Amino acid sequence: PARSQPMTNSKLRFRPALAKMKAYVPGEQPQGGKFIKLNTNENPYPPAPAVVEAIRAAADSRLERYPDPIGSSFRRMAAEKLGLPGPEWILCGNGSDEILTILVRGFMSDGDLLRMPTPSYILYRTLAEIQGARVEEVSFNADWSLPTAFSSPDGDPRLVFLPNPNSPSGTVLTPQAVSEIATALPCPLVVDEAYGDFAEENCIDLVKQHENVLVTRTLSKSYSLAGLRFGFLVAQPHVIAELTKIKDSYNCDAIAIAAATAAMASSDWLVDNRAKILATRERAKEQLRQLGFDVLDSAANFLWCTHPSRSLKPLYEALKTNQVLVRYMDYAGWGDGLRITIGTDAQIDAALVVLARLMQANA
Ligand code: PMP
Repeated sequence: PARSQPMTNSKLRFRPALAKMKAYVPGEQPQGGKFIKLNTNENPYPPAPAVVEAIRAAADSRLERYPDPIGSSFRRMAAEKLGLPGPEWILCGNGSDEILTILVRGFMSDGDLLRMPTPSYILYRTLAEIQGARVEEVSFNADWSLPTAFSSPDGDPRLVFLPNPNSPSGTVLTPQAVSEIATALPCPLVVDEAYGDFAEENCIDLVKQHENVLVTRTLSKSYSLAGLRFGFLVAQPHVIAELTKIKDSYNCDAIAIAAATAAMASSDWLVDNRAKILATRERAKEQLRQLGFDVLDSAANFLWCTHPSRSLKPLYEALKTNQVLVRYMDYAGWGDGLRITIGTDAQIDAALVVLARLMQANA
């Protein structure tokens, strides 16, 4: 069997940055069992029928050839749907996580400073550490706005990440607030809009006025395609051209490009799906509040639940034992909470029954 720990006389000299890192735990993605899965913000509904047809057609044609390196069909469709001047404003990626990696590789050298808010998406720190960069976390204000330190040139930040809507809070800053941050910063501001389709407003149009606003999107959430791996970047054409130099030659496969293009074309499906998720979310929010949780208003497809008087770790564990998977997070200075993804009405109802029973048993 392969050894996981190298022997002291090993010829493998891994970069020191790896020593303190942990691999992504497969525990959040159990492959068997009958879980109600509300832990990684997937969409509970299947993708648009046109997407499945596009996958079948792509599988039947030319898989022996390499794909289009830049995903031209997707870029054209996305530019049209998002009201952008042309396809040269889009860079396709293998999930938006790959886009984030490309951004870190494009802008950060050893020792450079990356700034991010907290509590937020922890992958940013991991990507920065892999690259040998330093990380500065700026805490959100109590009302989930950002302090001026977030926009400050102090410390010479080279890249700033802002998830908007934020995870795990589900809170959102207005395009006006984001525009002010971008104006004040001396570096690129990556607005991670993984959940942007669920919000009332987004920052795509800011890209036209601000060279330093780079918006990332994913098809994993609002398009029900987490299993496919497709995300993209929206930025001014010279930014896209520069970053295209460092992406893998064929970072998106032919099936993913065909499926993503069909998904992007399915505007009516998106509108219906979003309406269903938002209705379920608002209902779940009220019921969770009735059970005694503090639940923030959310602009995304999940809810952040905290409790005024107790840690939610035991509840998280008990939910898991009862086949309900939610995400447990504990942030220094903020305390812990459960991030609950919005499932179907039936899934949310079943989860709420278990939750109510467990709360009662503990009371
Ligand atoms: N950004 C945020 C804030 C997320 O929550 C996620 C999902 N984990 C992603 C980016 C990445 O999504 P994907 O790689 O599936 O496109």
